[in-house]
Amino acid sequence: MTMRILVTGAAGFLGSHLTDRLLSEGHSVLGVDNLCTGDLDNIAHLANERRFTFEQRDICETFDPGPVDYVFNMASPASPPEYLRLAIETLRVGSVGTENTLKIAQQYGAGYLHASTSECYGDPLEHPQAETYWGNVNPVGPRSVYDEAKRYAESLVMAYHRYRGVNTHLVRIFNTYGPRLHPDDGRVISNLMMQALRGDPLTVYGDGSQTRSFCFVNDLIDGIARLSRSEEHLPVNIGNPDEFTILKCAQAVLEVTGSKSELRFDALPEDDPTRRRPDITKARTLLGWEPKVTLREGLVKSLDFFKSKVRATA
Ligand code: UDP
Repeated sequence: MTMRILVTGAAGFLGSHLTDRLLSEGHSVLGVDNLCTGDLDNIAHLANERRFTFEQRDICETFDPGPVDYVFNMASPASPPEYLRLAIETLRVGSVGTENTLKIAQQYGAGYLHASTSECYGDPLEHPQAETYWGNVNPVGPRSVYDEAKRYAESLVMAYHRYRGVNTHLVRIFNTYGPRLHPDDGRVISNLMMQALRGDPLTVYGDGSQTRSFCFVNDLIDGIARLSRSEEHLPVNIGNPDEFTILKCAQAVLEVTGSKSELRFDALPEDDPTRRRPDITKARTLLGWEPKVTLREGLVKSLDFFKSKVRATA
């Protein structure tokens, strides 16, 4: 069955890849984005796609997209420097904006998937993180604008499922990278790739011993697509359990780019989680999903994108 689908944050990194996937499955997509961090370049290739429509709008304002069969709520600033710059906007899109999209799903009897985050676990005391872990979040620290917005959104989504009967899904997304990851939004992979290709020093925050587990975007989108069709309403981790220190990650970037850049050690941001790794047992058993692309392979697949961004800004 082909569907008419609303994707919020459609001009973002994940929203645009998800839109491509849904269009390739034959669905029609209405994409909305207020472009506060999204980029029209990410959907420029869809200009002549008749099954895709784009509207620039802020989901914190109510709107009626017309009948839709499914809503994917991907809208939010997501990189630490961007959600610190857009603090109030981040809190609002997780609360008011998310509720507006839940009401749309309720009104039209549409399925609903919300993009949540591993940041719900904060600086985790349990390792790796399973969905049953409640997290260790500073509710008033600088990162709280993102963490608490996402945690509130999870609560809101569960309430619309429990009390309003909406067929909701929650994906907890771990660090993801690939083409269209914004080159200047301050995330580690985009920073290191751009720095390596320019021959600039690679900025490692703290001593680089903190860990992250990086998932290639196509793997992540496949997990989201599977979850959206499942019967599971509680959160599901989607991420790659291969864990790297930031130092090892910088090493991989140097190898893949062939760069001779040096490392530069900068201050560690406040409340930067010391480790992060998904337990994906639930996704494996429930969805038959696991990631296929290793960090090295994914960095190679991302090389052309970052090279083109370096050329564009040279
Ligand atoms: N990081 C770094 N250098 C950079 C950017 C980030 O060492 O240029 C570190 C950051 O301190 C964190 C990790 O890389 O420990 C991942 O940061 P990112 O901003 O990509 O996302 P996060 O997982 O913190 O949300």
